[in-house]
Amino acid sequence: MLLDENIEHKKELRHDWSRQEITAIYNKPLLNLIYEAATVHRMWHKADEIQLSTLLSIKTGGCPEDCSYCGQAARYHTDIQVQALLPLDTVLDHARRAQANGASRFCMAAAWREVRDNRDFDRVLEMVSAINAMGLEVCCTLGMLTEDQAKRLQEAGLFAYNHNLDTSEAYYDKIISTRKFDNRLHTINNVRKAGMTVCSGGIIGLGETVEDRIAMLCTLSNMPQHPESVPINALARVEGTPLENLPKVRIWDMVRMIATARIIMPSTMIRLSAGRMEMEEEEQAWCFMAGANSIFTGEKETLLVTPNPGVSEDMAMLDNLGLKPMVKKD
Ligand code: SF4
Repeated sequence: MLLDENIEHKKELRHDWSRQEITAIYNKPLLNLIYEAATVHRMWHKADEIQLSTLLSIKTGGCPEDCSYCGQAARYHTDIQVQALLPLDTVLDHARRAQANGASRFCMAAAWREVRDNRDFDRVLEMVSAINAMGLEVCCTLGMLTEDQAKRLQEAGLFAYNHNLDTSEAYYDKIISTRKFDNRLHTINNVRKAGMTVCSGGIIGLGETVEDRIAMLCTLSNMPQHPESVPINALARVEGTPLENLPKVRIWDMVRMIATARIIMPSTMIRLSAGRMEMEEEEQAWCFMAGANSIFTGEKETLLVTPNPGVSEDMAMLDNLGLKPMVKKD
């Protein structure tokens, strides 16, 4: 018997996934799930290519929000060094080096609750415009955006905006109390209206149930347009945050999330994001087999404020696995 008699339907994008269907996929026998995800991956993508994205924190710490997993929230006692918005030249130097190291996408993150119409935002617009002119895909994550701010970013040349759902709607208020799940959807909607691509995913290991994971994937996969990029993060347990003592995420939970996301959102770039530092190369290989085709890498060996493998380590891993950096997508 074929592993999946309906493999033909995986050639089409669907936006009407039920939780039951997603649950059935998530709970398939693990090797069958990986096999199916790997098959779908090969229908939609070049399976030997991995997109390398570089993420730079352009404004660090001091955030008024209370996301329980985040070391940048001002209210938690972490050893994060607060850093005001970086100067334009510093950011452009980072972008040039990222490009020289093979990155095709450059993401800038600012620990803001929301964008304000002030000189800092003007400087971010300048950064976007200059990095876009270098030929890199530019992505930002700056917190909540109005429709007008989204438009200004798009006009400056922003390719993608990251705004993670983080977790399910039902579990959201256990993790964050300073905003609502609906605020996230509203910003994502503003990004879409401005004509930019959407990067939106979540984190596992926050104490959520499997049902919460399925519900989050259901929200993402039933958007009128799937996010072009879906980061799947494993909780990086930051000392001083409320979630510091939660157990490490099991690799097979990451693999199940990635494989399920790959099957239900086949055209999307699935990004293996935070948590790689705690994964062996073999474990990351399983994630790539399950359909992950993007990672964050960079010279600073951090992912915002948590440890991340360095670029030379990542290049050696890709080489070992017979993978290569993806050139910029058309
Ligand atoms: S995740 Fe973002 S919004 Fe939440 S506390 Fe950290 S920097 Fe602020």
